Amino acid sequence: MTITRYDPDREALGELLGGQPRYRLDQLWEGLYAQQAPLEQLTTLPKALRQQIADALPEALHEVIRRVSDRGDTVKYLWELADGARIETVLMVYPDRVTACVSSQAGCAMGCGFCATGQAGFTRQLTTGEIVEQVIRAARQARELGRRLGNVVFMGMGEPLANEAALWPAIERLHGAVGMSARHLTVSTVGLVPGIRHLADQPRPVNLAVSLHAANDALRDELVPINRRYPLDALMAACADYLTKKGRRLSFEWALIAGVNDRDADADELARLCRRLRLPAHVNLIPLNPTPGYPTVGSSLRRVHEFRDRLESLRVNATVRRNRGTEIDAACGQLAAGQPVSLGRRATGQR
Ligand code: SAH
Ligand code: SF4
Repeated sequence: MTITRYDPDREALGELLGGQPRYRLDQLWEGLYAQQAPLEQLTTLPKALRQQIADALPEALHEVIRRVSDRGDTVKYLWELADGARIETVLMVYPDRVTACVSSQAGCAMGCGFCATGQAGFTRQLTTGEIVEQVIRAARQARELGRRLGNVVFMGMGEPLANEAALWPAIERLHGAVGMSARHLTVSTVGLVPGIRHLADQPRPVNLAVSLHAANDALRDELVPINRRYPLDALMAACADYLTKKGRRLSFEWALIAGVNDRDADADELARLCRRLRLPAHVNLIPLNPTPGYPTVGSSLRRVHEFRDRLESLRVNATVRRNRGTEIDAACGQLAAGQPVSLGRRATGQR
């Protein structure tokens, strides 16, 4: 695997700089992370040194396409990596905040049928640098729009807790070097119990979102196949421990699928599940977004609101998530890097 610009930690970068004076490392580290500056703009560094770094540490992400939604408030990037694998990043600009939705893997092995990434299958793990660079690029774009990137959600392609080796250092880098508050970082998981348990032991208090979609094992086995390995009892126990240990916000994601998980009985079952956790969880509702490989459709907005009202009447906090980027296939579950991912490879020279 090519080592790219945002892969080395501070110590490794120091080694790479070799005999340079100490302050050069400070300048480089500050410039890359706190300022998120492109290397060529770090003019405090001598040109020859910049060239040496550029040669040793190429950028990881090569822009293939950038799509902007009609109103310009959602930007989706399709990136090609050094080996030809493709991933996507989405930048969402809201009146009160700017959020980047980043990928943690090229593809995904979890096989959720309703998700475009799941339909395309797994290509490979991303490195820490490939994850971090998505955030840096999004931060630069936000700055061009006169805004500051404040939030990162690991809700792009892939299952972050199936790539812990790259995820934890990436979170550390975003918190420590980029200076983002861990409270503004959210890891979304399909429900990998070991990963949730590790999250509870991490030093950084990031938020956890669990993609639930069903509150009984029979339906969840069908919608989210990994439920067969980590059924609801085990998942809820891990969530409860996480809440007790961290006291952080826990949210459940629920993509509403017409006639499948949007009935009154589903809301009642979900409310019962939420009450089993001693601390309150928050439910995020979103109508299922269309994907090529899944026959069922999302619930109507009216039904989504009825479902929310029913949960609220059962004393469960629920919000309807604003749906961003559907017209540019940038919404939840629609990221497939321009289908088909696994056939999309092509040889590229290294830059
Ligand atoms: N693998 C992680 C994170 C990436 S998926 C996870 O599953 O949580 C990000 C979110 O999009 C998850 O909540 C997922 O369930 C949801 N999602 C997937 N396909 C969707 C679709 N077609 N419509 C709406 N949400 C979807
Ligand atoms: Fe993977 Fe998440 Fe999509 Fe499931 S919903 S296939 S875990 S990316």
